[in-house]
Amino acid sequence: MSDLLPIVPASPDATSDAHCEDSPRPLPPRAKVDGPRGRYFIHTWGCQMNVHDSERMAGQLEHLGFGQADSEEDADIVLLNTCTVRETSAAKVYGKLGDLRRLKRANEKMVVGVCGCLAQQERDALFAKAPHLDLVIGPRAIPQLARHVESILETRQRVRDTAPWTETVGAGSEESLRQSFPKAFLTIQEGCDKFCTFCVVPFTRGREKCRPLDVLLAEIEGLADRGFREFEMLGQNVNCYRDDAGHDLADLLLRAADIRGVERLRFVTSHPRHLSDRIVAAMAHEKVARALHLPVQSGSDAVLARMERDYTRADYMARIARLKAMNPDIALQTDIIVGFPGETEDDFQATLSLLEEVAYEGVYSFKYSPRPYTKAAKSFEDDVPESVKADRLARLQAYQDQLQAPRDAARVGLVEEVLVDGMSKRSDAEVAGRTSRNRVVNFPGAPDLIGLLVPVRVTEARAHSFRGEIAGPTR
Ligand code: SAM
Ligand code: SF4
Repeated sequence: MSDLLPIVPASPDATSDAHCEDSPRPLPPRAKVDGPRGRYFIHTWGCQMNVHDSERMAGQLEHLGFGQADSEEDADIVLLNTCTVRETSAAKVYGKLGDLRRLKRANEKMVVGVCGCLAQQERDALFAKAPHLDLVIGPRAIPQLARHVESILETRQRVRDTAPWTETVGAGSEESLRQSFPKAFLTIQEGCDKFCTFCVVPFTRGREKCRPLDVLLAEIEGLADRGFREFEMLGQNVNCYRDDAGHDLADLLLRAADIRGVERLRFVTSHPRHLSDRIVAAMAHEKVARALHLPVQSGSDAVLARMERDYTRADYMARIARLKAMNPDIALQTDIIVGFPGETEDDFQATLSLLEEVAYEGVYSFKYSPRPYTKAAKSFEDDVPESVKADRLARLQAYQDQLQAPRDAARVGLVEEVLVDGMSKRSDAEVAGRTSRNRVVNFPGAPDLIGLLVPVRVTEARAHSFRGEIAGPTR
């Protein structure tokens, strides 16, 4: 259900007081498509799921007859696809909304929308804060985007659609504009029932809901027929996937692996508590990537308990041991929060020691920020000073780099299969792609390698990527 509100014209004397320091991610560049009805531009903040939600929105706008603009200045429809997981991302959206107020003053017909988690969190309050907004839609309303845009264009009435529940999770996915060839993203599960005390996701994305296995397999088959070779299954809690017929993620991986043309399968993000033995066993399949993102958040049991993560450090390590027993070369990545309420230096040291014990290939680390509605924000004092949070973050990142360097150096000389996904950012004479372990490799090659699997000998380990040379026939 959407709520229709009358449009309030942008206040001519309103000014932008917010400043956007970091750029959000636009959809990746490609040849400009002229749409008979005008152009759109989408800014995307947040996780891979948001990036794919933007692909779903772009696909609907192109079906309506809009083409992709190079910039917001050049667009008739500007959408901000937002994230509120951390305070910093939410602040940046308000900064961007301030910029758009100026643009809308110059072009009153421009449609400006806020989509995703900030829309769900703020609802009508967004219209009050940004009177130039036409559209506010939550993550579950994405399948309705085209209908809402048509309604705004016809009636010039504002639309808010932040219904927490629809039965259409992932609906219209087949319409997505796919800009990550030869890899395709698929939302298989939305929402989260876990309510970790720091996290706003259950409040913005709603309760867990999964798409049926047969629908997903049909979509993968269609994409594989179009030449897509790698598929990444997305969900806030992706390894909790279970459809109404009882199929789990292991079923999905094994059935998808049998589809002609499918070469690689990944999934993100997994919760350690639900990494079942069935999933671990399915991960041994040759088409399932040798990489797993398994956020631990902290190495201290006291902090994990206050976060209500539902596992201890020993539980986490037991799962890692099972994974490594089945899959010795697996590359593990994680998320860490520093400065959670009550985190002592000893707790932080426990996290540092976990980095060494697990031997992660990648660590995404964040300073804790209290989020609306969450138990931590309501019940715990945000008592770790900002300077201590910043110091711990810097020490954590430096320690991870120090641990990682010799492991990367040890891979020089090995041959890894790289799925080429584009030209290298540094050189027109080089292509880039990812290994099964999810590491970027750049190597000399021509654009016709894009979409192929290439054996590449690693010749150099750089800070966050490798260089290499072709070491055998492509396929
Ligand atoms: N579902 C995943 C899990 O269970 O680990 C996490 C998804 S969350 C959208 C992405 C990451 O953002 C989390 O793993 C956490 O490290 C970070 N995060 C979430 N809430 C945060 C907060 N209030 N402050 C800082 N970082 C936060
Ligand atoms: Fe947030 Fe916890 Fe759900 Fe992950 S499992 S999305 S951290 S509530």
